Amino acid sequence: MSGGDDDKHLRPASRLVRGGRRKEWTGPVVNPPVWRGSTHLYDTDADRHAAGGNNADGQFFYGRRGAPTQWALAEALTQLEAGAYGTQLYPSGVAAIAGCMFAVLKPGDRLLMADNAYDPSRSMATGLLARMGVETTFFDPRDLDGFTAAVPGAKAVWLEAPGSLTFEMCDVPALAAAARAAGAVTMIDNTWASPLGFAALDHGCDIVMMSLSKHVGGHSDLMMGSASAGKRWYTALRRTAQELGQVVSPDDAALAARGLRTMGVRLEAQTRSALQIAAWLESQPQVARVLCPMLPSDPGHALWQRDFTGGCGLFAFVLASNDPAASARVADALQMFGIGYSWGGFESLALPIAPATYRSVMPCGTGGAPALRLAIGLEDADDLIADLAQALALV
Ligand SMILES: *Cc1c(COP(=O)(O)O)cnc(C)c1O
Repeated sequence: MSGGDDDKHLRPASRLVRGGRRKEWTGPVVNPPVWRGSTHLYDTDADRHAAGGNNADGQFFYGRRGAPTQWALAEALTQLEAGAYGTQLYPSGVAAIAGCMFAVLKPGDRLLMADNAYDPSRSMATGLLARMGVETTFFDPRDLDGFTAAVPGAKAVWLEAPGSLTFEMCDVPALAAAARAAGAVTMIDNTWASPLGFAALDHGCDIVMMSLSKHVGGHSDLMMGSASAGKRWYTALRRTAQELGQVVSPDDAALAARGLRTMGVRLEAQTRSALQIAAWLESQPQVARVLCPMLPSDPGHALWQRDFTGGCGLFAFVLASNDPAASARVADALQMFGIGYSWGGFESLALPIAPATYRSVMPCGTGGAPALRLAIGLEDADDLIADLAQALALV
């Protein structure tokens, strides 16, 4: 939604607090209330006809087009995303990925997908998209020349930076420019950085997708996704989402909006702790390598520093041990880290990873050695380090 332009001059922290809180949506309270509704009622049948013909954002019609709770969240996300005209919400991050793919691709099209994309993005390409007649080529996003040679004739490109599980960076502006020169649409999964850490549309991407289950929700209690774009692609995203019947519950939208208000301070605190913990891990004899573009020693650091304005608490490390069971031993020994999927919550998580299964063309960032991904939460970083120290002592 393009409303709320009055706040465009404000810095991100202020927009996080103010976004979507229009008086006509909040009434006299601070947060947009939870508007539960399937049926929307009209005073007259003429009003019903008029509403049906007006498919603009923020118009009452029927529950599937949402109500102020969802509109407020979408508008707040649009205000955070430089260059966005609107934001479409989806019931999960994976649903948002599907929404982007369906909005852009049709049978016979070719898709280029970064080889370090999130595993369900990859399996969507090799499964659902293949079944609907879209052919996908995986590419190493660090190989700009290879990409430039491969992109002519492609309809779209799917990027993720840093990539899932092993956090390789890529040159997003250069890849997006090469895609644009070849007439291809660039889509990016920006869940890791969020708009606070990377302004994807400003760096040449056409559509930016995010799992709101992670940083935006921030409390490990909801599933949601979003895709934001300029007017042309936002219009396509919205039309396709309506055709697919995608809608998010107002209860979840209210939770996501509440999470959004504190996302900035949570990300700052988690980034600070993650950097401290990653630097400590680098100096441990049981650790072969830390995979984190925020660290000066990381091969992706220069790109991260050039293009990104922030980070988060998610990174991985490779153990020096060649015992395949070592990563599970560490995860089991950790007391402060839960074992589980997802990330971006207030609590720390540890996950043994074996990314080789999710790669077609890139060498996997762990070299096949046992490795773990950590999601650093809001606990005291020194307590987390002490916990990691006792667990690493077992390998
Ligand atoms: C978790 C995740 C998703 C999918 O989000 P869900 O809300 O779990 O469906 C997409 N991309 C990345 C990078 C993720 O980590």
